[in-house]
Amino acid sequence: MDACRPPSTAVDGHCRLGTTDDRPARPPAQSRSAPIPVYDRGPMPVYLDHAATTPLRPEALEAMLPYLTEAFGNPSSAHAAGRRARAALDEAHERIAARLGAGPREIILTSGGTESINLALKGAAWAGKARGHRIVTSAVEHHAVGHSLAHLERYGFEIETVGVDRYGRVDPDEVEAALTDRTILVSIMLANNEVGTIQPIAEIARRVHARRGVLLHVDAVQAAAYLDIDVKALDVDLLSIGAHKFEGPKGVGALYLRAGTHIVAQQQGGSQERHRRAGTEDVAGAVGMAIALELACAERPASTARLVALRDRIRGVLTKLPGVELTGHPRQRLPNHCSVVVRDVDGSDVAMALDLRDVAISTGSACTSGSNEVSHVLAAMGYPDEEARGALRLTVGRTTTDDDVETALAAVGEVIESLRAGAPAAATAPAVAGGAG
Ligand code: PLP
Repeated sequence: MDACRPPSTAVDGHCRLGTTDDRPARPPAQSRSAPIPVYDRGPMPVYLDHAATTPLRPEALEAMLPYLTEAFGNPSSAHAAGRRARAALDEAHERIAARLGAGPREIILTSGGTESINLALKGAAWAGKARGHRIVTSAVEHHAVGHSLAHLERYGFEIETVGVDRYGRVDPDEVEAALTDRTILVSIMLANNEVGTIQPIAEIARRVHARRGVLLHVDAVQAAAYLDIDVKALDVDLLSIGAHKFEGPKGVGALYLRAGTHIVAQQQGGSQERHRRAGTEDVAGAVGMAIALELACAERPASTARLVALRDRIRGVLTKLPGVELTGHPRQRLPNHCSVVVRDVDGSDVAMALDLRDVAISTGSACTSGSNEVSHVLAAMGYPDEEARGALRLTVGRTTTDDDVETALAAVGEVIESLRAGAPAAATAPAVAGGAG
């Protein structure tokens, strides 16, 4: 049975929990509580912002549904309902671990990438405080890393930030040079969210582990959907992922913690997750994350070539436009990720005008768009502010079609041209509101 009927056959054009069988949906008047309103945009927009988040895949939703309905037990309860939830949670640990080359006990379930990163960095920093107080990181990390480290700085930790080249790559030699006898932790991302650049983590790990007792944390939130991750082959001590980047549910993530590595728990309460993360677990979320990760990994050999073709089509068309330059590494980059800077326009004006045409792209990371801040990533790569303001990011995913890409590319070209001709962003929307397709 399909967990979610396609919008064309759904009762009201929306996919709804609880309408997976053929019973008519209960009329609102008889509902016990008011339904959560659905934001209706009409026809499906073109969505090229998979680096920000991805749609929940139907297989994950279907696997989750029992744990949101009849199998609602608390995995810490001893009775049958609890044991059923516990079995599902244990299996989710096993399946996530298997896909990362880890053991089930090395996986800590969290509320997402940000929490995994906070737990990794703060937990490892406080656990290592007696040995040293220095932490090494890069200038292009996500704010979940940067702001967590800035927080630790207020408590006496010293943060050493290594720079990157024009393509956003960290030089392993520079990481090595930044290590001292007082260094306890290094945190470098596997792939960058804004420019898609992939870092040489295995080489960095070799340098880091040449010094005894220094831990390496890797933010793999952006990479987990698209790159094979084997924590043993990469030789990392801690690694963070978040399910919503690979078509799993939002609000759930995992931290890999190498067996025998000690971190200080960051929240106190019950003994869940082997005392490393207190709080009743999100069983449905864990189940959804496990299925989504498994499918992403299993489909990767076939899906990567398709994503690369879509990405390269975007890159080919955009970089032929005058004053448009690819940002990030030309080859060592995520297969789904195209990022550019467009001279003489503001990226947020382009994104806004495209939104009015039902095309979703981003100016950079989901977390910095909406603010006027210029990207710290592009600044670290040497882009002056006026160029960085023209940043655009188009990221494709499994559900992106060729038509989506062509529609978006036609719209991007028109919008850039009209903005350069002096049209205000809002005026670049088509006269008749309608779908992108
Ligand atoms: N790290 C990177 C590289 C990201 O791209 C993101 C989200 O965009 C995060 C961390 C935060 O993850 P989450 O949204 O799961 O909290």
